[in-house]
Amino acid sequence: MSDSSDPSDPAGWHPATQAVRGGVKRSSHGETAEAIYLTSGYAYGSAQQAAARMAGDEPGFVYSRYANPTVRMLEERLALIEGAGCARITASGMGAISSVMMAPCRAGDRVVAASALFGSCRWIVGTLMPRYGIETQFVDGADLDAWKRALSKPAKMVLVESPSNPLLDGVDIAAVAELSHKAGAKLVIDNVFATPVLQQPLQLGADIVAYSATKHMDGQGRVLAGAVLGEPDWIEEHLDPYLRHTGPAPSPFNAWVVLKGLETLDMRVRAASASASRLADFLAAHPAIRAVRYPGRADHPHHAVHDRQMSAGGTLIALSLDGDRETAFRFLDRLRLIDISNNLGDSKTLACHPASTTHRALSEDERAAMGLDESWVRLSIGLEDARDLEKDLTCALDGL
Ligand SMILES: *Cc1c(COP(=O)(O)O)cnc(C)c1O
Repeated sequence: MSDSSDPSDPAGWHPATQAVRGGVKRSSHGETAEAIYLTSGYAYGSAQQAAARMAGDEPGFVYSRYANPTVRMLEERLALIEGAGCARITASGMGAISSVMMAPCRAGDRVVAASALFGSCRWIVGTLMPRYGIETQFVDGADLDAWKRALSKPAKMVLVESPSNPLLDGVDIAAVAELSHKAGAKLVIDNVFATPVLQQPLQLGADIVAYSATKHMDGQGRVLAGAVLGEPDWIEEHLDPYLRHTGPAPSPFNAWVVLKGLETLDMRVRAASASASRLADFLAAHPAIRAVRYPGRADHPHHAVHDRQMSAGGTLIALSLDGDRETAFRFLDRLRLIDISNNLGDSKTLACHPASTTHRALSEDERAAMGLDESWVRLSIGLEDARDLEKDLTCALDGL
């Protein structure tokens, strides 16, 4: 926030206001809802103007793989909410993460990442980047000595997800940011689980924040989208050429859906997080459950880190049933309101069995190293009345 006393200064607004009004550019029609500029190209008044636009000598749009007015509104809105100098929107969360990791790296560079990452992020770092001669290393995100050792040598990029999927591990962002900078690296935080409502990685010292906007930002399970936020200099130097020439540009329609989703992000995330907090306590007390992992609960092994970094526990809960895969499947099949789905951050509450779905590509050893056995279920809490969710969970758990 700025010190401005001007009520029309977007930088002075609180995030919930920025999420509703940030980035709005009305056309001459004065529409209240943002316009969908579903256009791939732009026409110029003269050949001279076309040349000037393409040369970057005159501001304006040239082609929607480069930029688009609806997408630009979303970028400006998101940058305001995040407190970032600059934002770029991509067609999916993986479009954002793959671009941010590949764009600045060259053969011979080093990349360090926390081992608890979204499956496709792990593939980018563990499989794709080494094919191009980039040296990559995974560390236990909670082990600061491991970070110190890994970042005692120069590195280009560091990738962290906190809280992570699916056990909601926490990484000390400020400490890893300091070590990353000493190693000459930029720290990227995949902030999907926390959302900008509950955690602001840039304020903790991170350089870049990446999102799957598919999750809470759309928040209603409609479209895929991704976002990268950071300093304009870095984005213009490294990311823009990569995005322009490789083409993970979003559809303006999808950008518009996310733009409208952001208007309710603050209240949706706070409401779902309050329900999740209540349901985590209910689940932890149930005899059919061996363990609950929720960032807002004092018994989470990384509660201290989450408590410093997040303003609430978030919308995701991991629970370990007293049993094995068969017990977990039976539990999921007994749910009558909550859907079985590997998506998350939706207004509908969703449940999945990570070991057989989102994390099935990992080896058994890799899952064991994460503490992820077959008894775990991940819940993404939505916007239904928590009493109905509790009833569904109770009916599924009782008599398991
Ligand atoms: C979903 C997700 C992604 C990938 O996003 P898509 O929009 O599905 O491409 C990356 N990181 C995390 C933590 C996610 O949950």
